[in-house]
Amino acid sequence: MAKSTSALRSRAKGRKRKLVYAFGGSRSEGRATMKELLGGKGANLAEMARLGIPVPPGFTITTEVCNAYGAAGGRYPRGLEGEVEEHRRRIEKGLGARFGDPKNPLLVSVRSGAPMSMPGMMDTILNIGLNDATVHGLAAATSNPRMAFDSYRRFVHMYGDVVLGVHKDEFEKLHQAMKERCGAKLDTDLVAAELEALTAEYKALVRERTGREFPTDPMEQLWGAIGAVFASWNVPRAVSYRRLHKIAEHWGTAANVQAMVFGNMGDTSATGVAFTRDPSTGEKRFYGEYLANAQGEDVVAGVRTPVPINIAGRKGEEGPCLETEMPALYGELEKIYKRLEKHYREMQDLEFTIQNGRLWILQTRTGKRTAMAAVRIAVDMVDEGLVTREEALLRVQPGQLDQLLHPMFDPKAPRKVVAKGLAASPGAATGKVVFSADEAHEAGSRGEKVLLVRQETSPDDIHGMAVAAGILTARGGMTSHAAVVARGMGKCCVAGCGDAQVDAEERVVRFGARVVRAGEWLSLDGSTGEVMLGQVPTSDSEIAQVVQGRMKPEESPLYRRFERLMRWADKARRLGVRANADTPEDARAAIAFGAEGIGLCRTEHMFFAEDRIAAMREMIVAEDEEARRRALAKLLPMQKQDFIGIYEVMNGRPVTIRTLDPPLHEFLPHADEEIAALAAQVGLPAEAVKAKVESLRELNPMLGHRGCRLGIAFPEITEMQARAIFEAAADVFSRGIDVSPEVMIPLVGHREELAREKAVVLRVARDVEERWRAGVRYLIGTMIEIPRAALTAAEIAEEAEFFSFGTNDLTQTTLGLSRDDAGKFLPLYVERRVIPDDPFQTIDRSGVGALMRMGTEAGRRARPKLKVGICGEHGGDPASIEFCHDLGLDYVSCSPYRVPIARLAAAQAALREKMRGKGGKRAKTVKKGR
Ligand code: ADP
Ligand code: MG
Ligand code: MG
Repeated sequence: MAKSTSALRSRAKGRKRKLVYAFGGSRSEGRATMKELLGGKGANLAEMARLGIPVPPGFTITTEVCNAYGAAGGRYPRGLEGEVEEHRRRIEKGLGARFGDPKNPLLVSVRSGAPMSMPGMMDTILNIGLNDATVHGLAAATSNPRMAFDSYRRFVHMYGDVVLGVHKDEFEKLHQAMKERCGAKLDTDLVAAELEALTAEYKALVRERTGREFPTDPMEQLWGAIGAVFASWNVPRAVSYRRLHKIAEHWGTAANVQAMVFGNMGDTSATGVAFTRDPSTGEKRFYGEYLANAQGEDVVAGVRTPVPINIAGRKGEEGPCLETEMPALYGELEKIYKRLEKHYREMQDLEFTIQNGRLWILQTRTGKRTAMAAVRIAVDMVDEGLVTREEALLRVQPGQLDQLLHPMFDPKAPRKVVAKGLAASPGAATGKVVFSADEAHEAGSRGEKVLLVRQETSPDDIHGMAVAAGILTARGGMTSHAAVVARGMGKCCVAGCGDAQVDAEERVVRFGARVVRAGEWLSLDGSTGEVMLGQVPTSDSEIAQVVQGRMKPEESPLYRRFERLMRWADKARRLGVRANADTPEDARAAIAFGAEGIGLCRTEHMFFAEDRIAAMREMIVAEDEEARRRALAKLLPMQKQDFIGIYEVMNGRPVTIRTLDPPLHEFLPHADEEIAALAAQVGLPAEAVKAKVESLRELNPMLGHRGCRLGIAFPEITEMQARAIFEAAADVFSRGIDVSPEVMIPLVGHREELAREKAVVLRVARDVEERWRAGVRYLIGTMIEIPRAALTAAEIAEEAEFFSFGTNDLTQTTLGLSRDDAGKFLPLYVERRVIPDDPFQTIDRSGVGALMRMGTEAGRRARPKLKVGICGEHGGDPASIEFCHDLGLDYVSCSPYRVPIARLAAAQAALREKMRGKGGKRAKTVKKGR
């Protein structure tokens, strides 16, 4: 706030800074580009008036005044009063009515309007200027006493609530009581005298609650309303809305003072809202709702149910609509909406009011829309020649695309919400509740739809998660295991649902008093975090159906539009986009979504499979190298087979394979019976096996014996994996399929670690090389995921042919923050703004980002051709992707379902860079990520 007070003052030194801008009538001083100063509403009102669209005249007090007012503890800057007076007189002259005139009073509204649209978050007050004298003047001047007293009671209600702090429910109670007493069913059934009596009751209520009379002086009313509108910038719901949508606090709101027009003058009057295109499907059709004989706020408040404005909107149902009731005015409205859309070259959301057969437009702004509508509108507008492809690309929010890729609940279906958790992975899931991964696996294999409900999940649960329709956990945050894995699988997940008490033993989950047993149905909305009783009907996303080959592209116009947008994005972007994929199925999905390679193939997931875990455990508990090699020999053919499957699908695209990463302890059994079984299998006493399990236990496994540290201790593990990687490559290559593996060593901190691992890998490669005779291109590189690696990147780059930033671990180690434990306090940090964002969702640019920059620059200095990518969760986060683009990375890698998001985000980053005029700077860097 301090910013604009000083701005006001410093600018005042030069030319006098205008505090108020006129719109409508004879003069419009603002325009659409002045949103920052006039707010969206004020700037667009001025713009419309300039276009000759009928806008009731008024003036806008700037956002700078709001900020100065806030900073000065509720005092207005000098000169404001004079400017407001001047503008008020201008309106009075134009309309031939005077503020406070008991014969022919002018009434105004004071409307909030911030630079960024915050629909319904701040306050607006209508019908200012009414008192016991002017209300009679209004009645006489309009020959409509009912309308005059209706406006008066609305005014006292609104003003009493917003300015004087008497809760609106108290007014509403009196309103309802009056309706009952008079036998009125609808608001419009109350007659003038009844409304007059109601207003008197309202004023008595205000007197009682505030100890003061309701203000009768119109000027006092006006200033009270202006102050309240400015103050509404800081009401809690506005503050949380800004936090949610990352709108800066320093903007402030403008206050628009505007002559009233009345939609409540009787049957030739009405008020409504309309969209220039359908905001849920994007279809090009005029879409809207209205109410006859009402004021604007009635439509949104839901007191009366509005009706469609046109015949198309009635969908075959009977009833009146604007198009049939007032055809001439509807025609006029049509002309205006077309004009506005063409002028703004964007879908508009507008407010209109009809007073006695005359149409007025009260607001226009960019309309909010679903992802489906966003894609359709963007592509259609290109076809209509309204926008360029580049503009179209910038109009779709990458994160929104999620909605298109996951199944969704039927929006019309009723919901019985019992709890709310974190919207961890979008989608809609319905299933019978199960409490263990084994149960889920068993039921899932029988083709049953199940929801896996757990306190939290672990890598042991993968098989259950893979078959579950959705996952609900009571603990864990947005980056908890359940959330990360679910997103990777494109599976719906609600995590950290504190209201769910999971009792896996009793096989029940409690939501307060409500108990849900195993086998009962629940539904999860991964886009809102809602947990609902029973089966809410879902529909599979169309795009997913096409991608999975269950629907032909020709059958889905949505898919075709989406695909076109994606192709434009591919042309615009510089960053490569790869996917994190561990199986041939993942790889197939990744390609279908447009991935150009695999940026992370985790090999450990392969070892959790039922037919492998035994050999894996045998390898871990082995007493010596020889025994270990025997067990590894059993794993080799299986691992080789995995890679063959993936290479075949990827067909020559690069596949980055990470060697074993997690601590060995994670693979071992813990229950006594399981340990006994393992002992029997390997021919050791149970005690010895138990001792081994104990000895591998670590206090802080994340920083323990894992990653390349395993390969340093047991090179034969790396050797087996390298053999599987290269023999698979040779096999595939010999069958005429191109293949390009990239071996990635995790958790390297010292050049020497990489050097040793690399030596093992190279030895195996050379051994197998005979069989492909230089036909296979392969690379050996490393993850950069601990700070030391970034700090010594120059040294490491001498060994590494590529870097891949593992930003999950890099964030944990840079911030000294365990992501499994951070859920307890990190949300608080974000809420209290200790930090701006959850660093596990969006890259901490100044910390982790600085290490990335340092690592990239030093690495490329040492090895100019060094390929650099990122494979952490951040690879699918639009803001982080933009950062990667700006850093000049070669590619990002994310889960298959986020690939389209990454493609679009990368395109937007490139376009924004171009707009900043930096295009030339990196023009030399061609797209390398393939
Ligand atoms: P919001 O930003 O919450 O939509 P608005 O300032 O747009 O608030 O006003 C709320 C309602 O009051 C809208 O329906 C608007 O059209 C109506 N309204 C505002 N000013 C006037 C006016 N001068 N005459 C008639 N209706 C008005
Ligand atoms: Mg509005
Ligand atoms: Mg890691």
